[in-house]
Amino acid sequence: MKIYNTISRKKEEFNTIHKGIVNMYVCGPTTYNFIHIGNARPMVVFDTFRNYLASIGYQVNYIQNYTDVDDKIINKSKEEGIGPLELAAKYIEEYRKDANSLRVKEATFHPKVSENIEEIIEFIDTLIKKGFAYEVEGDVYFDVRNYKPYGKLSGKNIDDLKSGARVEIGDKKRSPLDFALWKTAKEGEINWVSPWGNGRPGWHIECSTMSMKYTKSPTLDIHGGGQDLIFPHHENEVAQSEGYTGKPFVNYWMHNGFITVNKEKMSKSLGNFFLVREILEKFSGEVIRYFILSSHYRNPIDFNDGALVESEKSLTKLMTAYNNLEKLINDNRDNQNDILENEFTKIEEKIEKALQDDFNTALAFSFFFDGSKIVTKAIKENLYNQKGLEKAFSIFKKYLVDILAVLPFEKVEEEVLEGDDNGTFNKVMEILLDVRNMARKDKNFAYGDLIRNELTKLDIEIIDTKEGSTWKKK
Ligand SMILES: [Zn+2]
Repeated sequence: MKIYNTISRKKEEFNTIHKGIVNMYVCGPTTYNFIHIGNARPMVVFDTFRNYLASIGYQVNYIQNYTDVDDKIINKSKEEGIGPLELAAKYIEEYRKDANSLRVKEATFHPKVSENIEEIIEFIDTLIKKGFAYEVEGDVYFDVRNYKPYGKLSGKNIDDLKSGARVEIGDKKRSPLDFALWKTAKEGEINWVSPWGNGRPGWHIECSTMSMKYTKSPTLDIHGGGQDLIFPHHENEVAQSEGYTGKPFVNYWMHNGFITVNKEKMSKSLGNFFLVREILEKFSGEVIRYFILSSHYRNPIDFNDGALVESEKSLTKLMTAYNNLEKLINDNRDNQNDILENEFTKIEEKIEKALQDDFNTALAFSFFFDGSKIVTKAIKENLYNQKGLEKAFSIFKKYLVDILAVLPFEKVEEEVLEGDDNGTFNKVMEILLDVRNMARKDKNFAYGDLIRNELTKLDIEIIDTKEGSTWKKK
Protein backbone atom coordinates (compact mmCIF):
# COMPACT_ATOMS: atom_id res chain seq x y z
CA MET A 1 0.00 0.00 0.00
CA LYS A 2 1.14 3.52 -0.80
CA ILE A 3 0.36 6.59 1.27
CA TYR A 4 1.11 10.22 0.45
CA ASN A 5 3.36 11.47 3.22
CA THR A 6 3.05 15.20 3.87
CA ILE A 7 6.59 15.45 5.21
CA SER A 8 8.28 13.91 2.14
CA ARG A 9 5.64 15.28 -0.27
CA LYS A 10 5.42 12.00 -2.10
CA LYS A 11 3.65 8.66 -2.04
CA GLU A 12 5.56 6.11 -0.02
CA GLU A 13 5.22 2.39 0.52
CA PHE A 14 3.49 1.82 3.86
CA ASN A 15 5.43 -0.18 6.44
CA THR A 16 4.64 -0.35 10.13
CA ILE A 17 7.10 -0.29 13.01
CA HIS A 18 5.66 -3.46 14.55
CA LYS A 19 4.44 -6.18 12.22
CA GLY A 20 0.66 -6.18 11.95
CA ILE A 21 0.11 -3.21 14.27
CA VAL A 22 -0.70 0.38 13.31
CA ASN A 23 -0.39 3.14 15.88
CA MET A 24 -2.44 6.01 14.54
CA TYR A 25 -3.19 9.37 16.14
CA VAL A 26 -5.64 11.96 14.82
CA CYS A 27 -6.18 15.37 16.39
CA GLY A 28 -9.67 15.55 17.82
CA PRO A 29 -12.08 18.39 18.49
CA THR A 30 -11.90 21.24 20.94
CA THR A 31 -15.19 20.55 22.62
CA TYR A 32 -16.91 23.90 23.10
CA ASN A 33 -19.55 23.75 20.38
CA PHE A 34 -21.41 21.49 17.98
CA ILE A 35 -19.21 20.24 15.15
CA HIS A 36 -19.46 21.63 11.62
CA ILE A 37 -19.04 19.91 8.26
CA GLY A 38 -15.32 20.84 8.17
CA ASN A 39 -14.78 18.97 11.46
CA ALA A 40 -16.64 15.98 10.05
CA ARG A 41 -14.17 15.40 7.23
CA PRO A 42 -11.16 14.14 9.23
CA MET A 43 -13.50 12.15 11.48
CA VAL A 44 -14.98 10.30 8.50
CA VAL A 45 -11.77 9.98 6.48
CA PHE A 46 -9.67 8.52 9.29
CA ASP A 47 -12.46 6.32 10.62
CA THR A 48 -12.80 4.83 7.14
CA PHE A 49 -9.05 4.45 6.77
CA ARG A 50 -8.93 2.66 10.09
CA ASN A 51 -11.70 0.30 8.93
CA TYR A 52 -9.71 -0.41 5.80
CA LEU A 53 -6.48 -1.09 7.69
CA ALA A 54 -8.38 -3.52 9.91
CA SER A 55 -9.86 -5.22 6.84
CA ILE A 56 -6.40 -5.95 5.44
CA GLY A 57 -5.34 -7.53 8.72
CA TYR A 58 -3.83 -4.78 10.86
CA GLN A 59 -4.58 -4.36 14.50
CA VAL A 60 -5.22 -0.63 14.66
CA ASN A 61 -4.52 1.28 17.83
CA TYR A 62 -6.47 4.43 17.01
CA ILE A 63 -6.18 7.44 19.29
CA GLN A 64 -8.19 10.60 19.02
CA ASN A 65 -8.04 13.21 21.75
CA TYR A 66 -10.62 15.58 23.14
CA THR A 67 -9.22 19.03 23.83
CA ASP A 68 -11.18 19.85 26.96
CA VAL A 69 -8.86 22.58 28.26
CA ASP A 70 -8.60 25.63 25.99
CA ASP A 71 -9.27 29.39 25.80
CA LYS A 72 -12.38 28.82 23.68
CA ILE A 73 -13.79 26.46 26.28
CA ILE A 74 -13.02 28.87 29.11
CA ASN A 75 -14.75 31.73 27.26
CA LYS A 76 -17.79 29.66 26.31
CA SER A 77 -18.12 28.33 29.86
CA LYS A 78 -18.44 31.92 31.10
CA GLU A 79 -21.16 32.50 28.48
CA GLU A 80 -23.09 29.38 29.42
CA GLY A 81 -22.49 29.86 33.14
CA ILE A 82 -21.10 26.37 33.79
CA GLY A 83 -17.62 25.13 34.65
CA PRO A 84 -15.19 24.57 31.74
CA LEU A 85 -14.85 20.83 32.29
CA GLU A 86 -18.61 20.49 32.60
CA LEU A 87 -19.05 22.43 29.35
CA ALA A 88 -16.45 20.27 27.61
CA ALA A 89 -18.16 17.09 28.88
CA LYS A 90 -21.47 18.32 27.48
CA TYR A 91 -20.01 18.95 24.02
CA ILE A 92 -18.10 15.66 24.05
CA GLU A 93 -21.50 13.98 24.42
CA GLU A 94 -22.88 16.05 21.54
CA TYR A 95 -19.83 15.18 19.45
CA ARG A 96 -20.43 11.49 20.08
CA LYS A 97 -24.03 11.78 18.93
CA ASP A 98 -22.92 13.35 15.64
CA ALA A 99 -20.10 10.83 15.25
CA ASN A 100 -22.61 8.06 15.74
CA SER A 101 -24.93 9.51 13.08
CA LEU A 102 -21.95 9.63 10.70
CA ARG A 103 -21.18 5.97 11.53
CA VAL A 104 -17.83 7.01 12.98
CA LYS A 105 -16.89 4.40 15.55
CA GLU A 106 -15.25 5.03 18.90
CA ALA A 107 -11.46 5.22 18.78
CA THR A 108 -9.40 2.76 20.80
CA PHE A 109 -8.68 5.62 23.20
CA HIS A 110 -10.17 9.10 23.50
CA PRO A 111 -7.82 10.76 26.00
CA LYS A 112 -8.69 14.14 27.48
CA VAL A 113 -6.22 16.87 28.38
CA SER A 114 -7.70 17.27 31.86
CA GLU A 115 -6.90 13.62 32.61
CA ASN A 116 -3.29 13.82 31.45
CA ILE A 117 -1.95 16.91 33.20
CA GLU A 118 0.65 14.99 35.21
CA GLU A 119 2.16 13.49 32.05
CA ILE A 120 2.09 16.87 30.30
CA ILE A 121 3.97 18.50 33.19
CA GLU A 122 6.59 15.74 33.10
CA PHE A 123 6.96 16.25 29.32
CA ILE A 124 7.47 20.01 29.68
CA ASP A 125 9.87 19.55 32.57
CA THR A 126 12.02 17.22 30.46
CA LEU A 127 12.03 19.72 27.58
CA ILE A 128 13.32 22.43 29.96
CA LYS A 129 16.02 20.09 31.26
CA LYS A 130 17.10 19.23 27.72
CA GLY A 131 17.34 22.91 26.79
CA PHE A 132 14.33 22.96 24.41
CA ALA A 133 12.12 25.08 26.63
CA TYR A 134 12.38 27.94 29.11
CA GLU A 135 10.25 29.47 31.80
CA VAL A 136 9.34 33.15 32.10
CA GLU A 137 7.22 34.26 35.05
CA GLY A 138 5.17 31.10 35.25
CA ASP A 139 4.80 30.61 31.49
CA VAL A 140 6.85 27.98 29.67
CA TYR A 141 7.77 28.33 25.99
CA PHE A 142 9.33 25.99 23.47
CA ASP A 143 12.62 27.43 22.23
CA VAL A 144 12.35 27.07 18.45
CA ARG A 145 15.94 28.26 17.85
CA ASN A 146 17.24 25.21 19.71
CA TYR A 147 15.39 22.77 17.50
CA LYS A 148 17.21 23.05 14.19
CA PRO A 149 14.88 21.09 11.85
CA TYR A 150 11.92 23.38 12.71
CA GLY A 151 9.82 23.86 9.56
CA LYS A 152 10.57 20.44 8.06
CA LEU A 153 6.95 19.25 8.09
CA SER A 154 5.31 22.36 6.68
CA GLY A 155 8.27 23.18 4.42
CA LYS A 156 8.39 26.68 5.86
CA ASN A 157 11.58 28.62 6.15
CA ILE A 158 12.34 29.67 9.70
CA ASP A 159 13.64 33.13 8.73
CA ASP A 160 10.53 33.86 6.63
CA LEU A 161 8.37 32.74 9.51
CA LYS A 162 10.24 34.97 11.93
CA SER A 163 9.85 38.09 9.86
CA GLY A 164 6.15 37.33 9.36
CA ALA A 165 5.39 36.52 12.99
CA ARG A 166 3.68 39.11 15.12
CA VAL A 167 4.88 39.85 18.59
CA GLU A 168 1.96 40.61 20.86
CA ILE A 169 2.32 43.34 23.45
CA GLY A 170 3.18 41.81 26.79
CA ASP A 171 4.62 38.67 25.17
CA LYS A 172 7.26 37.22 27.36
CA LYS A 173 8.78 34.86 24.84
CA ARG A 174 12.33 35.26 23.56
CA SER A 175 11.54 34.81 19.90
CA PRO A 176 8.26 35.35 17.98
CA LEU A 177 8.15 31.70 16.84
CA ASP A 178 8.39 30.25 20.33
CA PHE A 179 5.12 28.73 21.44
CA ALA A 180 3.51 28.23 24.83
CA LEU A 181 3.78 24.85 26.53
CA TRP A 182 2.36 26.05 29.84
CA LYS A 183 0.35 29.16 30.63
CA THR A 184 -0.06 30.89 33.97
CA ALA A 185 -3.69 30.86 35.03
CA LYS A 186 -5.51 34.16 34.95
CA GLU A 187 -7.60 35.15 37.95
CA GLY A 188 -10.47 32.72 38.47
CA GLU A 189 -9.44 30.42 35.59
CA ILE A 190 -9.22 26.64 35.77
CA ASN A 191 -5.67 25.63 36.77
CA TRP A 192 -3.41 22.89 38.00
CA VAL A 193 -0.37 23.00 40.26
CA SER A 194 2.96 22.80 38.42
CA PRO A 195 6.65 23.47 39.15
CA TRP A 196 6.10 26.86 37.43
CA GLY A 197 3.07 27.88 39.46
CA ASN A 198 -0.62 27.31 38.88
CA GLY A 199 -1.59 27.15 35.26
CA ARG A 200 -2.67 24.99 32.37
CA PRO A 201 -1.10 23.46 29.25
CA GLY A 202 -0.83 25.24 25.90
CA TRP A 203 -2.60 23.52 23.03
CA HIS A 204 0.16 21.68 21.12
CA ILE A 205 1.79 19.77 23.97
CA GLU A 206 -1.25 17.55 24.63
CA CYS A 207 -0.99 15.68 21.33
CA SER A 208 2.68 14.82 21.78
CA THR A 209 2.14 13.67 25.34
CA MET A 210 -1.03 11.67 24.79
CA SER A 211 0.05 10.03 21.54
CA MET A 212 3.18 8.64 23.20
CA LYS A 213 1.36 7.63 26.36
CA TYR A 214 -1.44 5.73 24.62
CA THR A 215 0.74 4.04 21.99
CA LYS A 216 3.59 3.42 24.46
CA SER A 217 5.87 4.37 21.59
CA PRO A 218 8.03 7.42 20.76
CA THR A 219 7.15 7.06 17.07
CA LEU A 220 3.69 6.87 15.53
CA ASP A 221 3.05 4.96 12.34
CA ILE A 222 0.44 7.49 11.20
CA HIS A 223 -0.53 10.94 12.39
CA GLY A 224 -3.57 12.47 10.74
CA GLY A 225 -5.58 15.64 10.75
CA GLY A 226 -6.86 18.45 8.58
CA GLN A 227 -4.47 20.37 6.33
CA ASP A 228 -5.07 23.48 8.41
CA LEU A 229 -3.24 21.79 11.30
CA ILE A 230 0.08 21.32 9.46
CA PHE A 231 1.29 24.70 10.62
CA PRO A 232 1.76 25.56 13.37
CA HIS A 233 0.10 22.71 15.31
CA HIS A 234 1.77 19.68 13.75
CA GLU A 235 5.05 21.47 13.16
CA ASN A 236 5.11 22.22 16.88
CA GLU A 237 4.17 18.65 17.74
CA VAL A 238 7.20 17.44 15.76
CA ALA A 239 9.55 19.91 17.44
CA GLN A 240 8.53 19.16 21.01
CA SER A 241 8.23 15.39 20.48
CA GLU A 242 11.59 14.96 18.77
CA GLY A 243 13.16 17.32 21.31
CA TYR A 244 11.78 15.09 24.05
CA THR A 245 12.70 11.65 22.66
CA GLY A 246 15.48 12.35 20.16
CA LYS A 247 13.63 9.95 17.83
CA PRO A 248 11.38 10.50 14.79
CA PHE A 249 7.85 11.37 15.96
CA VAL A 250 5.80 10.21 12.98
CA ASN A 251 6.52 7.92 10.03
CA TYR A 252 3.54 8.94 7.84
CA TRP A 253 1.76 12.27 8.03
CA MET A 254 -1.68 12.22 6.42
CA HIS A 255 -3.70 15.41 5.95
CA ASN A 256 -7.17 15.80 4.52
CA GLY A 257 -8.10 18.77 2.31
CA PHE A 258 -10.39 21.67 3.13
CA ILE A 259 -14.14 21.88 2.79
CA THR A 260 -15.33 25.13 1.26
CA VAL A 261 -18.94 26.28 1.18
CA ASN A 262 -20.15 27.55 -2.18
CA LYS A 263 -16.45 27.95 -3.10
CA GLU A 264 -15.77 30.18 -0.10
CA LYS A 265 -13.87 29.40 3.04
CA MET A 266 -16.28 28.43 5.79
CA SER A 267 -16.38 31.02 8.52
CA LYS A 268 -18.77 32.28 11.12
CA SER A 269 -18.44 35.85 9.86
CA LEU A 270 -19.50 34.86 6.33
CA GLY A 271 -22.52 33.08 7.78
CA ASN A 272 -21.74 29.95 5.79
CA PHE A 273 -21.09 27.80 8.79
CA PHE A 274 -22.92 24.46 8.59
CA LEU A 275 -23.31 22.33 11.65
CA VAL A 276 -23.51 18.57 11.17
CA ARG A 277 -26.54 18.67 13.44
CA GLU A 278 -28.38 20.98 11.02
CA ILE A 279 -27.45 18.97 7.94
CA LEU A 280 -28.73 15.81 9.61
CA GLU A 281 -32.20 17.32 9.65
CA LYS A 282 -32.27 17.03 5.86
CA PHE A 283 -29.86 14.21 5.02
CA SER A 284 -28.90 11.00 6.70
CA GLY A 285 -25.42 10.56 8.13
CA GLU A 286 -24.55 8.09 5.38
CA VAL A 287 -25.23 10.73 2.72
CA ILE A 288 -22.85 13.14 4.46
CA ARG A 289 -20.34 10.32 4.78
CA TYR A 290 -20.66 9.47 1.11
CA PHE A 291 -20.32 13.15 0.17
CA ILE A 292 -17.01 13.29 2.07
CA LEU A 293 -15.63 9.99 0.78
CA SER A 294 -16.65 10.51 -2.84
CA SER A 295 -13.71 12.90 -3.21
CA HIS A 296 -10.09 11.93 -2.69
CA TYR A 297 -9.25 12.82 0.92
CA ARG A 298 -6.47 15.22 -0.09
CA ASN A 299 -8.58 17.18 -2.58
CA PRO A 300 -10.60 20.21 -1.54
CA ILE A 301 -14.36 19.66 -1.60
CA ASP A 302 -17.11 22.18 -1.97
CA PHE A 303 -20.16 21.85 0.20
CA ASN A 304 -23.58 23.04 -0.90
CA ASP A 305 -27.12 21.72 -0.69
CA GLY A 306 -27.01 20.62 -4.33
CA ALA A 307 -23.94 18.47 -3.68
CA LEU A 308 -25.78 16.60 -0.95
CA VAL A 309 -28.84 16.09 -3.15
CA GLU A 310 -26.51 14.59 -5.78
CA SER A 311 -24.83 12.44 -3.13
CA GLU A 312 -28.20 11.13 -2.03
CA LYS A 313 -29.11 10.26 -5.61
CA SER A 314 -25.84 8.42 -6.15
CA LEU A 315 -26.14 6.55 -2.92
CA THR A 316 -29.71 5.57 -3.79
CA LYS A 317 -28.37 3.86 -6.93
CA LEU A 318 -25.93 1.82 -4.88
CA MET A 319 -28.65 1.07 -2.34
CA THR A 320 -30.98 -0.24 -5.05
CA ALA A 321 -28.36 -2.66 -6.34
CA TYR A 322 -27.55 -3.77 -2.80
CA ASN A 323 -31.23 -4.31 -1.96
CA ASN A 324 -31.80 -6.28 -5.14
CA LEU A 325 -28.89 -8.56 -4.38
CA GLU A 326 -30.12 -9.06 -0.85
CA LYS A 327 -33.63 -9.92 -2.03
CA LEU A 328 -32.40 -12.47 -4.57
CA ILE A 329 -29.78 -14.11 -2.41
CA ASN A 330 -32.20 -16.68 -1.01
CA ASP A 331 -33.26 -17.65 -4.52
CA ASN A 332 -30.85 -20.60 -4.69
CA ARG A 333 -30.81 -20.12 -8.41
CA ASP A 334 -29.01 -22.76 -10.40
CA ASN A 335 -28.14 -21.14 -13.70
CA GLN A 336 -25.34 -21.89 -16.17
CA ASN A 337 -25.09 -18.27 -17.22
CA ASP A 338 -23.68 -15.93 -14.64
CA ILE A 339 -21.82 -12.68 -15.18
CA LEU A 340 -21.70 -11.59 -11.55
CA GLU A 341 -18.95 -13.81 -10.20
CA ASN A 342 -16.45 -12.97 -12.90
CA GLU A 343 -17.28 -9.27 -13.04
CA PHE A 344 -17.21 -8.78 -9.28
CA THR A 345 -13.90 -10.62 -8.96
CA LYS A 346 -12.48 -8.00 -11.33
CA ILE A 347 -14.24 -5.18 -9.51
CA GLU A 348 -12.83 -6.25 -6.17
CA GLU A 349 -9.31 -6.20 -7.60
CA LYS A 350 -9.86 -2.69 -8.93
CA ILE A 351 -11.29 -1.45 -5.63
CA GLU A 352 -8.35 -2.86 -3.71
CA LYS A 353 -5.94 -1.25 -6.13
CA ALA A 354 -7.65 2.13 -5.68
CA LEU A 355 -7.62 1.91 -1.89
CA GLN A 356 -4.00 0.74 -1.84
CA ASP A 357 -3.03 3.76 -3.90
CA ASP A 358 -3.19 6.51 -1.29
CA PHE A 359 -6.67 5.47 -0.19
CA ASN A 360 -8.58 6.61 -3.24
CA THR A 361 -12.15 6.11 -2.06
CA ALA A 362 -13.49 8.30 -4.89
CA LEU A 363 -12.16 5.84 -7.46
CA ALA A 364 -13.40 2.88 -5.42
CA PHE A 365 -16.94 4.28 -5.55
CA SER A 366 -16.77 4.61 -9.33
CA PHE A 367 -16.25 0.83 -9.57
CA PHE A 368 -19.37 0.31 -7.51
CA PHE A 369 -21.40 2.32 -9.99
CA ASP A 370 -20.08 0.01 -12.74
CA GLY A 371 -20.99 -2.90 -10.47
CA SER A 372 -24.52 -1.62 -9.94
CA LYS A 373 -25.08 -1.50 -13.69
CA ILE A 374 -23.84 -5.05 -13.99
CA VAL A 375 -26.26 -6.14 -11.25
CA THR A 376 -29.17 -4.53 -13.12
CA LYS A 377 -28.14 -6.21 -16.37
CA ALA A 378 -27.71 -9.60 -14.71
CA ILE A 379 -31.16 -9.44 -13.16
CA LYS A 380 -32.87 -8.15 -16.30
CA GLU A 381 -31.29 -10.69 -18.59
CA ASN A 382 -31.28 -13.59 -16.17
CA LEU A 383 -27.50 -13.83 -16.08
CA TYR A 384 -26.90 -14.83 -12.51
CA ASN A 385 -26.70 -17.86 -10.29
CA GLN A 386 -26.28 -18.40 -6.57
CA LYS A 387 -22.48 -18.24 -6.60
CA GLY A 388 -22.51 -14.99 -8.56
CA LEU A 389 -25.08 -13.41 -6.27
CA GLU A 390 -23.09 -14.35 -3.21
CA LYS A 391 -19.91 -12.93 -4.68
CA ALA A 392 -21.51 -9.61 -5.66
CA PHE A 393 -23.36 -9.29 -2.36
CA SER A 394 -20.23 -10.01 -0.33
CA ILE A 395 -18.32 -7.26 -2.16
CA PHE A 396 -21.10 -4.74 -1.57
CA LYS A 397 -21.28 -5.71 2.06
CA LYS A 398 -17.54 -5.73 2.71
CA TYR A 399 -16.86 -2.30 1.26
CA LEU A 400 -20.07 -0.29 1.27
CA VAL A 401 -21.52 -1.57 4.54
CA ASP A 402 -18.46 -2.37 6.64
CA ILE A 403 -15.49 -0.29 5.44
CA LEU A 404 -16.92 2.81 3.75
CA ALA A 405 -20.06 2.46 5.92
CA VAL A 406 -22.45 4.31 3.63
CA LEU A 407 -25.04 1.54 3.30
CA PRO A 408 -27.73 0.85 4.20
CA PHE A 409 -29.18 4.31 4.64
CA GLU A 410 -32.58 5.86 5.11
CA LYS A 411 -33.73 9.03 3.49
CA VAL A 412 -34.65 11.73 5.93
CA GLU A 413 -38.38 12.33 5.49
CA GLU A 414 -38.78 16.03 5.30
CA GLU A 415 -41.99 17.90 5.82
CA VAL A 416 -42.45 19.62 2.49
CA LEU A 417 -43.74 23.13 2.75
CA GLU A 418 -44.57 25.52 -0.04
CA GLY A 419 -41.56 27.43 -1.23
CA ASP A 420 -38.69 25.41 0.18
CA ASP A 421 -38.45 22.82 -2.60
CA ASN A 422 -38.17 25.03 -5.68
CA GLY A 423 -41.96 24.99 -6.07
CA THR A 424 -42.24 21.26 -6.77
CA PHE A 425 -44.86 20.86 -4.05
CA ASN A 426 -46.99 23.66 -5.49
CA LYS A 427 -46.79 22.10 -8.95
CA VAL A 428 -47.84 18.69 -7.65
CA MET A 429 -50.80 20.34 -5.91
CA GLU A 430 -51.80 22.03 -9.19
CA ILE A 431 -51.74 18.68 -10.95
CA LEU A 432 -53.92 17.12 -8.23
CA LEU A 433 -56.44 19.94 -8.45
CA ASP A 434 -56.57 19.64 -12.25
CA VAL A 435 -57.21 15.90 -11.99
CA ARG A 436 -59.94 16.55 -9.44
CA ASN A 437 -61.60 19.16 -11.68
CA MET A 438 -61.53 16.79 -14.65
CA ALA A 439 -63.12 14.07 -12.51
CA ARG A 440 -65.86 16.44 -11.38
CA LYS A 441 -66.52 17.59 -14.93
CA ASP A 442 -66.96 13.92 -15.85
CA LYS A 443 -69.40 13.65 -12.94
CA ASN A 444 -66.97 11.26 -11.27
CA PHE A 445 -67.53 12.70 -7.80
CA ALA A 446 -66.10 9.65 -6.06
CA TYR A 447 -62.61 10.46 -7.44
CA GLY A 448 -63.04 14.12 -6.59
CA ASP A 449 -63.96 13.28 -3.01
CA LEU A 450 -61.16 10.77 -2.68
CA ILE A 451 -58.62 13.47 -3.51
CA ARG A 452 -60.26 15.94 -1.11
CA ASN A 453 -60.44 13.41 1.73
CA GLU A 454 -56.88 12.19 1.33
CA LEU A 455 -55.57 15.76 1.30
CA THR A 456 -57.63 16.59 4.39
CA LYS A 457 -55.78 13.81 6.19
CA LEU A 458 -52.56 15.70 5.33
CA ASP A 459 -54.06 18.90 6.73
CA ILE A 460 -54.50 20.38 3.28
CA GLU A 461 -57.83 22.01 2.60
CA ILE A 462 -59.31 22.44 -0.89
CA ILE A 463 -61.26 25.62 -1.43
CA ASP A 464 -63.66 25.68 -4.37
CA THR A 465 -64.50 29.11 -5.75
CA LYS A 466 -66.18 30.43 -8.88
CA GLU A 467 -62.77 31.07 -10.41
CA GLY A 468 -61.66 27.50 -9.75
CA SER A 469 -60.11 25.53 -6.88
CA THR A 470 -57.21 26.49 -4.65
CA TRP A 471 -55.76 24.96 -1.54
CA LYS A 472 -54.23 25.94 1.75
CA LYS A 473 -52.46 24.24 4.64
CA LYS A 474 -54.60 24.09 7.78
ZN1 LIG B 1 -3.00 17.64 17.69
